[in-house]
Amino acid sequence: MRAMVYRGPYKVRVESKPIPAIEHPNDAIVRVTHAAICGSDLHLYHGMMPDTRPGMTFGHEFIGIVEAVGGSVQNLSVGDRVMVPFNVYCGTCYFCARGLYSNCHNVNPNATAVGGIYGYSHTCGGYDGGQAEFVRVPFADVGPSVIPDWMDSEDALLLTDALPTGYFGAQLADIRQGETVVVFGAGPVGLYAARSAWFMGAGRVIVIDHLQYRLDKAATFAHAETYNFAEYDDVVVHLKNITDNIGADRVIDAVGAEADGNFLQHVTAAKFKLQGGSPIALNWAIDSVRKGGTVSVVGAYGPMFSAVKFGDAMNKGLTLNMNQCPVKRQWPRLFEHVRDGYFKPNDIVTHRIPLEHIAEGYHIFSAKLDDCIKPIVVADA
Ligand code: NAD
Ligand code: ZN
Ligand code: ZN
Repeated sequence: MRAMVYRGPYKVRVESKPIPAIEHPNDAIVRVTHAAICGSDLHLYHGMMPDTRPGMTFGHEFIGIVEAVGGSVQNLSVGDRVMVPFNVYCGTCYFCARGLYSNCHNVNPNATAVGGIYGYSHTCGGYDGGQAEFVRVPFADVGPSVIPDWMDSEDALLLTDALPTGYFGAQLADIRQGETVVVFGAGPVGLYAARSAWFMGAGRVIVIDHLQYRLDKAATFAHAETYNFAEYDDVVVHLKNITDNIGADRVIDAVGAEADGNFLQHVTAAKFKLQGGSPIALNWAIDSVRKGGTVSVVGAYGPMFSAVKFGDAMNKGLTLNMNQCPVKRQWPRLFEHVRDGYFKPNDIVTHRIPLEHIAEGYHIFSAKLDDCIKPIVVADA
């Protein structure tokens, strides 16, 4: 089969690989019809995730058709159109039993924190992902769901990570009626988080980024007030000024570790307040939330990011909520919101590319060229 293959930082190729086989009776093999490139894939692409081995196929956002099932699989049949959450999880361990699917104990013996994620380095279990013609899906009775007939394929694809994660970010922010919510990052996750914030009762939603085309999208897609941080010496001071010098009630970090070289060229280091490589958006979040407020972190920080302003967070009495999203927990509610039209997930898709051109997709998405928000790989594009 043809598959995206990682060959080192900023180097991805499409190569031939054997079609994956059933390795365990709980496995299914899925023929991928749609896959997406995620902001999380950029962390891998930029070489920021430890133990990302050359030869790995990325892709934790995919849907497709069941091609084969192992002997013990009950819930899926060959020919089913399925959506697969980005988490690989067993469904029965201590953590899965508590809905913490992203922290499953059984899928990733090397990890102390995260569970399994498709196509996300050996730090996350070493599973090949779905940016390929076929993918092996372990615990096939647990994660995947048959896509309802009424659901559009691209909408289903965006329900495998980006939309549930944005929604989860807003949930973790613990928004109360009428509150002011700031979202750092106007990528797919931030856009969905901002739209979700209204749903949870926000009275004011403010989105911060430096990419004007994404802020314009936030204004229409999420009806947000937007500010381009490149236009301010200190965006935190600006945020304080527009929130009665108190700060926002809730802040969502939908940025995470940001290492894109192109990004750093946009503004000077002084403007960024680079502090020995500490996470910028997270520190801005801690600085711009009011005392007693909540910071929700769904932006992903790899194991090497530890220089958090923890002392300030403690002294402000903040609640910090964070996790990788347990995708399937969000599905029942989100299926309803997609069905009733509150969310049209594929509104944010800007690029549809064939697998053979995926390297170009990575480049465009990483360098934020061509007004790219969400590139997806379509089997017959
Ligand atoms: P993306 O790269 O498309 O978007 C990130 C956005 O943040 C960009 O528009 C960028 O310009 C902006 N940005 C960078 N620095 C900023 C700053 N200091 N302040 C404000 N904006 C800033 O990525 P995405 O797909 O939207 O994902 C966002 C983050 O969420 C990534 O870190 C990704 O790994 C993470 N993620 C987490 C989960 C989870 O389960 N927790 C799931 C999916 C994605
Ligand atoms: Zn993702
Ligand atoms: Zn488990």
